[in-house]
Amino acid sequence: MKGVSRRGILAAGAAGGAAISATVARAAGFGNPDQPPEGAVNVTNPRALAVPGPHDSGLADMMPAFQSPPATDVGSMPQFWASFNLAPRRIQDGGWGRQVTQADFAISTEIAGVDMRLSAGGIRELHWHQQAEWAIMTYGHCRITVLDAQGRPFVADVKEGDLWYFPAGLPHSLQGLAPDGAQFVLAFDNGASSEFNTLLATDWMAHTPPEVLAKNFGVPADAFRNIPVHSRWIFQGEVPPPLDVVKARMASKAGVPAYPFTFSLYDAPKMGETAGGYVQIADSTNFPVSRTVAAGLATVRPGAMRTMHWHPNADEWQYYLKGEGRMTVFNAGPEANTANFRPGDVGYVKKGLGHYVENTGKEDLVFVAVFRSDRYEEVSFADWLAHSPPEMVAATFNLSAETVAAFPRGRGDMMPG
Ligand code: MN
Ligand code: MN
Repeated sequence: MKGVSRRGILAAGAAGGAAISATVARAAGFGNPDQPPEGAVNVTNPRALAVPGPHDSGLADMMPAFQSPPATDVGSMPQFWASFNLAPRRIQDGGWGRQVTQADFAISTEIAGVDMRLSAGGIRELHWHQQAEWAIMTYGHCRITVLDAQGRPFVADVKEGDLWYFPAGLPHSLQGLAPDGAQFVLAFDNGASSEFNTLLATDWMAHTPPEVLAKNFGVPADAFRNIPVHSRWIFQGEVPPPLDVVKARMASKAGVPAYPFTFSLYDAPKMGETAGGYVQIADSTNFPVSRTVAAGLATVRPGAMRTMHWHPNADEWQYYLKGEGRMTVFNAGPEANTANFRPGDVGYVKKGLGHYVENTGKEDLVFVAVFRSDRYEEVSFADWLAHSPPEMVAATFNLSAETVAAFPRGRGDMMPG
């Protein structure tokens, strides 16, 4: 639709014969492949670029790639940009949550995202859900608890850069710690999931007959007379006792889980680090409980880029933590669309679609890519061409043998290499 409307504007604006021929003469060239031509570079009357009608420049200027797409962009794929910054916060005493799910971000079928804040002592109440929960800590300190299906309890304290993973159905809780609680981003392995519709322990207890509660827990029904009749979801509690104390109180004869439910992503090996940056991976090969979610944390230096690649095994859900970036996604058609990303934004790339992410700012660009898969997989465009028959590559792209020989070899996540 975007492309069609731009073409319509060009056709209408370029009514003069000279303007049309000037435009056509520049069309279908290097960096300007479309016919009719697309992009601001092809506009002969500068007024054609204006937005004289109603608009909010405060919002529009946040997305220069939408206001003036590269001349190589074409077509109109489903919106792959969303942002927690524009999601309403559900605020309760003790913290808040906001989410970007398939309900408002249609492309996001495999992952639903939640951004949550808990003050020191703030509790996300005991609950569970049908989908698995993966999370990355983005601020502060948090305590997590979970009970596995063998009745083995787990409790741990996490900090910025740490992950947790709760398999589908396992009951858990979260609590902000001193000095200033926590903020974190959750990824559910089902885009239709909602953080506002989980199975809450308070809801179940309130909706069970008192005599059944008495039988179930082996105490008089009257003991339950003060239970909340409405769920808590998030509520303000006291900062909990030290971890060792709580761990001892939670201990079970069943023992402890075979694998931890937490992982320090910031401490993971830096894959193929170059001058351009590096990627850190957490999947079931090094974070064994994380059987349905794999993640890669990309750090892209100023001026560098996460190179052209795709993922053969799953959609990519991105959360931007730091810096400024710009991603173009390519699909058959051809279609190529570009969007800008800032902290708190969410990107989404369907399985197998080509993409690259440029650092457009002055600081490191950091984003985490989350996949509904047990393992992280990617295919590098440059590595593929470097390991195809050189004559075929040269003939396909009209390249010299020297140019093809100079392509980087190996996965090369970041350039400059
Ligand atoms: Mn949960
Ligand atoms: Mn990717």
